[in-house]
Amino acid sequence: MFSAFIDLIFPRICTACLEPLQRNEEIICTDCRFDLPKTNLHLETENTLAHKFFGEVQLKHTLSYLKFVKGGKVQRLMHELKYKGNQEVGEMLGRWYGAELRESGFADAFDLIIPVPLHQKRLLLRGYNQSDCFAKGLSESLNIEWRNDILIRETETSSQVNKSRLERYQNMDKVFTVKNPELLRNKKIVVVDDTLTTGATLESCVLSLQAFEIKDISILTLAMA
Ligand SMILES: [Zn+2]
Repeated sequence: MFSAFIDLIFPRICTACLEPLQRNEEIICTDCRFDLPKTNLHLETENTLAHKFFGEVQLKHTLSYLKFVKGGKVQRLMHELKYKGNQEVGEMLGRWYGAELRESGFADAFDLIIPVPLHQKRLLLRGYNQSDCFAKGLSESLNIEWRNDILIRETETSSQVNKSRLERYQNMDKVFTVKNPELLRNKKIVVVDDTLTTGATLESCVLSLQAFEIKDISILTLAMA
């Protein structure tokens, strides 16, 4: 009764379409949920994305949940997650994608989720790492551990966009370090980020982690441009 009254005065709205939510809906309305532009890369047998973005690194799986379109719903969701403090959006999308992956035979594909870290300064400014939110949701529905104390970002980097491949590579050199590498031993690692744009950040993370005795490594992002 009381929550219905609150809804009437302060209608909760869908983060993606801004229409009022029904009482049984949270954050994203049912219409938007079924309307999300998915890549469905996990249903493809060939690792096409890996060829496109990652020339030299060996990736087991290259996955991305949603297609990022300028002005679209995914852009709004990403904006909420990155700049509006809406951490629950990332967690919820992580849970949804994790459930889809589990249903498609990925239940045992990974042992450990590692989100791409922010630099300490950026983390303090924003108050949270948006990739942690997504990792947490994935971890819940895939029932595997996630840790943000292994891969550490040592330096802040400028934007990768409008840089050549060599410049991007130099820009990302020695950005990440690995703490407690024994926790990686013989593990199937999946590195998780919010958006895949040039792939340079993820490639650098993968190279840093590959230097240790892992079993295999994959990348997974919430959205891709
Ligand atoms: Zn909606």
